[in-house]
Amino acid sequence: MSHRSDFTDRHIGPNQYQIQTMLLELGFKDLDSFIKSVVPNNIHIKGEIEKAIPSAISETAALAEISEIAKKNSIKKNFIGSGYYGTITPAVILRNVLENPGWYTAYTPYQPEIAQGRLEAIFAFQTAVTDLTGLDIANASMLDEATATAEAMTLARRVWQGSDEAAFVIDTNLHPHVKAVVHTRAKPLKIKVIEIDFSSTDFAGDIFAAVIAYPNSTGEVKDISKIIASVQSKSALVIVNCDLLALTLFKTPGEYGADIAVGSAQRFGVPVGYGGPHAGFLAVRTGLERSLPGRLVGQSVDTHGNLAFRLALQTREQHIRRDKATSNICTAQVLLAVIAAFYTMWHGPQGLKAIASRVQGFAYNFRGALRSSGFDVANYEIFDTVLINTEKARQIFDKAAQSGFNIRLVSNNSLSVSFDEQSTENDLSQLLTIFGSKLDSSEIPASNLARKTDFLSHPIFNTYHSETAMLRHIRTLSDRDLALDRTMIPLGSCTMKLNATSEMIPITWPEFNSIHPFGPADQAAGYTQLIKLLSDWLISITGYDAVSLQPNAGSQGEFAGLLAIRNYLDSKGESARDICLIPSSAHGTNAASAVMAGMKVIVIACDENGNVSLEDLKLKITQYRSTLAALMVTYPSTHGVFESAISQICEMIHEAGGQVYVDGANLNALVGVAKPGKFGADVSHLNLHKTFCIPHGGGGPGVGPVIARKHLAPFLPNHPANSSAGPTTGPGPVSGAPFGSASILPISWMYIRMMGGAGLTKATEVAILSANYIAKKIERLFPVLYKGQNGFIAHECIIDIRELTKNTGVTVDDIAKRLMDHGFHSPTVSFPVAGTMMIEPTESEDVRELDRFLSAMESIRAEIAEVEAKQVSIEDSPLRHAPHTIGDLVRNDWDRKYSRLIGAFPNGESFGMGRGGKYLPTVGRIDGVYGDRNLVCSCLPIEELASN
Ligand SMILES: *Cc1c(COP(=O)(O)O)cnc(C)c1O
Repeated sequence: MSHRSDFTDRHIGPNQYQIQTMLLELGFKDLDSFIKSVVPNNIHIKGEIEKAIPSAISETAALAEISEIAKKNSIKKNFIGSGYYGTITPAVILRNVLENPGWYTAYTPYQPEIAQGRLEAIFAFQTAVTDLTGLDIANASMLDEATATAEAMTLARRVWQGSDEAAFVIDTNLHPHVKAVVHTRAKPLKIKVIEIDFSSTDFAGDIFAAVIAYPNSTGEVKDISKIIASVQSKSALVIVNCDLLALTLFKTPGEYGADIAVGSAQRFGVPVGYGGPHAGFLAVRTGLERSLPGRLVGQSVDTHGNLAFRLALQTREQHIRRDKATSNICTAQVLLAVIAAFYTMWHGPQGLKAIASRVQGFAYNFRGALRSSGFDVANYEIFDTVLINTEKARQIFDKAAQSGFNIRLVSNNSLSVSFDEQSTENDLSQLLTIFGSKLDSSEIPASNLARKTDFLSHPIFNTYHSETAMLRHIRTLSDRDLALDRTMIPLGSCTMKLNATSEMIPITWPEFNSIHPFGPADQAAGYTQLIKLLSDWLISITGYDAVSLQPNAGSQGEFAGLLAIRNYLDSKGESARDICLIPSSAHGTNAASAVMAGMKVIVIACDENGNVSLEDLKLKITQYRSTLAALMVTYPSTHGVFESAISQICEMIHEAGGQVYVDGANLNALVGVAKPGKFGADVSHLNLHKTFCIPHGGGGPGVGPVIARKHLAPFLPNHPANSSAGPTTGPGPVSGAPFGSASILPISWMYIRMMGGAGLTKATEVAILSANYIAKKIERLFPVLYKGQNGFIAHECIIDIRELTKNTGVTVDDIAKRLMDHGFHSPTVSFPVAGTMMIEPTESEDVRELDRFLSAMESIRAEIAEVEAKQVSIEDSPLRHAPHTIGDLVRNDWDRKYSRLIGAFPNGESFGMGRGGKYLPTVGRIDGVYGDRNLVCSCLPIEELASN
């Protein structure tokens, strides 16, 4: 095969010559000897995954192979509903957002000045959700409907002032998977869950909250005023699980006086995709915003007084509050929320109402016809779903399947049929034929619950209805952002590597994205094969025995893994073990997940080299010997080094009766060179959106498989709707869908298939090499904080700015913002150590790009030197004024101590002048504190705009 067709050489940025150059710089002849000096030899493996993973094939061949797999899924018409509905992704949004690297390769907007486009889109999502639910504040997305409901439960519990015994009431008629996730999440927190149908509103005993389905799983939309009054009379919070499309027609949770609304935004343009990814939503009334889980986009101002967007309040929530965090959510569903926002703008209020009315019309016509032909159907108000009680349920279900229609078999004597945006007149008449009935047009009766309030009146929802207008709006927003399609994003711990186009292509194939998660198993044979292959490969790569792909972010994998430990210990009668040891350097999600799994967090100190302090570890093991449940460590550590003592650490924990959780977010430094499942760990989560090329989407989606050794396998997640999704002995589901965000698994499958074992190993080796090359070169400018054996780092490098900050006042933020003037995205700031930056180049960046970054850092260092030498004060330096916007640069009253040229082109004329292109942030430095004090999280109503 010719060299040029080899995907490995496309994925790995540096070519052979550049690899040699970097090796030479570090004093090595070849990659082998280099890796041997970096990776501790007691964990180093060589040539193992090459045997287990099939050899690489070309992009063309891999696409052909996955298309054969895709064909094994059969595309049927879905009327199953249950939270997953047919929708039409407007083509202009499909191509220019979902299929556009400008959107899908962006990172979470922690650097808001280079993320105004996606922040504005999420702000629109939040506005749409608040308008539709009638509540005051909505967050930037939840992982799905089911977890959003569980998060609402824990939110309510946090603000509850009464007794610990108070129970959580759930509506029997919530969708089954939503109830199941609530049960999984309630159990480790010892929250008592009571299921009732609300036919009576007398609650015995204390309750802290109740969740009501509106519409519910039987299709009923009912007046919930009495239930709400009764719940609130007990000082408990009311959570309404609702449907955004239905809320264009029905009275909103806000108008009823509900406290919280949750649900899924899937049917706003995001394909069902065998269960995900989709954006869940969570909205609250004023007063609860500071307890809101997940991310929240807020408005603030920049240094020039212009409005600007940024993440508000809990920006790095888990890192700050750790075990007190409001949730463990880090990666959420940004790209899907962005799609839902554009879908809302595209249709506007009238368009959405028209879609909703059409759907409702189908449902009423269908029900009327069935009633006329003698079927037992209810008389209550409905939106899109018709419940049919019939002895012949199974028979009709089978007949429908044979005609290419999936309907829902609710029980042996009931069926339901849900209509959606994709439903047609033809579908309706065919369905009626299946039921032996025929059309008999029925009116939608007048409703007392009809929505009378305006919604989506803001111009953003009433402007972009032509394709030209929408195309330009999407383009305008994406031009404001820096994503991987313009520059390297050297964010430590985030692994911003190539998301290859061939990896992305299959995800929009209908064979993958139109499969319903609760459809018959034989229609998803392609998914079953893909999931099996990918699972086996991940097991081979990590050395573990069993995996669940269900968790839809790393944080959810952490929870699932710790829950497996919890249940394993319980099964051995060791329920008293509830201590989770976590090093001080850990990612914030770790502590938050431990709390969700019902454990208590004890922090372990790190030594001066950044390693887990063996001394402190020994001390804590002795102190908590009888109650030790687990140690949670990241490997290689979040300090970016391979700790040689890892095997010894695992032994110490096991010897004390505890389990070892290795946070696998840094697997990009391990694939092919070490296996956590073999060096002593019991369970890990992986981040397919880091190591295995799923793009970050501006802050999600993700997939966070939980992967474990044999003894924990019986305790991995399962799912009530699909027995093949996990062991019968499992704790229940951690995500709404049996296989979580299944429709993006083809990305990781393609990556592994096109790299093969040898390519994967080489990717790891080059990632480590590039990081060490950066470390070596940057050390002349900034001290490198931690190193491992032989003075090498793993796949990321922490530079220490604290001394410079002390001497000059130049902060990590100044450097991060000045990098924007160079057209770069900053490295990770102040994690895991405050006042430092963590650089992870990944294997995908070639040496030319690494050198370009180094040159920017050198120029910044020179500017710092001028402050050091007192040639300019920090306040007057370009560092503090960064980033420079066009408005700033063309001001008439330019009075800075440096030229406009230096402001715009800090590296002189050679970079970015003329034809080279220049990225210009659209806002200056944003005032975070102002934004938190004056919290604005959705577009101001039009009346207020007018009066301003
Ligand atoms: C990214 C990361 C996580 C969290 O993963 P999400 O997918 O964002 O939930 C946990 N631990 C470490 C070390 C990470 O880098």
